[in-house]
Amino acid sequence: MLKQVAEGVLIHESEFIQSKSVVVQGRAGVLLIDPGIQSDEMAQLANDLRDLGQPVVAGFSTHPHWDHLLWHATLGEAPRYGTARCAADIRDVLSNADWKARVAEVLPPEIAEEIPLDLLGVITGLPAETAHIPWDGPKVRIIEHQAHAQGHAALLIEERGVLVAGDMLSDILIPFLDLGAADPIEDYLAALRLLEDVADDVDVLITGHGSVGGADQVRARITQDRAYVHALRDGGLPDDPRVGPSATFGKDWLPGVHKWQLQQLAQKGEHAGTPE
Ligand SMILES: [Zn+2]
Repeated sequence: MLKQVAEGVLIHESEFIQSKSVVVQGRAGVLLIDPGIQSDEMAQLANDLRDLGQPVVAGFSTHPHWDHLLWHATLGEAPRYGTARCAADIRDVLSNADWKARVAEVLPPEIAEEIPLDLLGVITGLPAETAHIPWDGPKVRIIEHQAHAQGHAALLIEERGVLVAGDMLSDILIPFLDLGAADPIEDYLAALRLLEDVADDVDVLITGHGSVGGADQVRARITQDRAYVHALRDGGLPDDPRVGPSATFGKDWLPGVHKWQLQQLAQKGEHAGTPE
């Protein structure tokens, strides 16, 4: 079911970690950002859009993680985009003959059967200097940064005051760093600064997982995420409701992710101190 969150901007929520797909109405059809998770819900979305007389004319994946790269044949054959780095990253994965088996390993087992992998990651990389998504609709600015995943992009739908933040600024998930990067902490802090630069232009915040926020949530979540990343950097215990005793989501696994991130960063630090 589609729900309007701003003029010409609708969302669909999947059960899996409250994933959000975003539909932006254009002149001759819609832009579909991070299409969804399960076959039947993407097919339903395609149906709903057909009923509205709004074919999908473009797709966009915010970053190269499986839950943001899916597609369903009924959504049609519109061009699908990501940043050049995002496209290169997934191209690498797809170049392995056994990529499906590898991806299947990380899918949530309870819904794995319902997740269609055939069209995963079939995206075109937009050159790094691309400022806006090429499509016939409201201007959608690409804010690329290196945090959470290679070539991660937040999207600012300028005329609608909507920020689609991908896997940044979630109210239910702590920041998941891209631990393969050379300096994941600084990358993350730099990304938060980029998002802060546009905070005044945002009335509605849509994150890849979690709840939709209003204007006040942008700075509040940036502050919360920055504090978390600082705590990670300093090896301390974060005072963060998302992994605290009052957490309402992911109590059984998020504290584990936090511990794992701490361990990985500590290891990185040791290696950094070792001369070649
Ligand atoms: Zn995600």
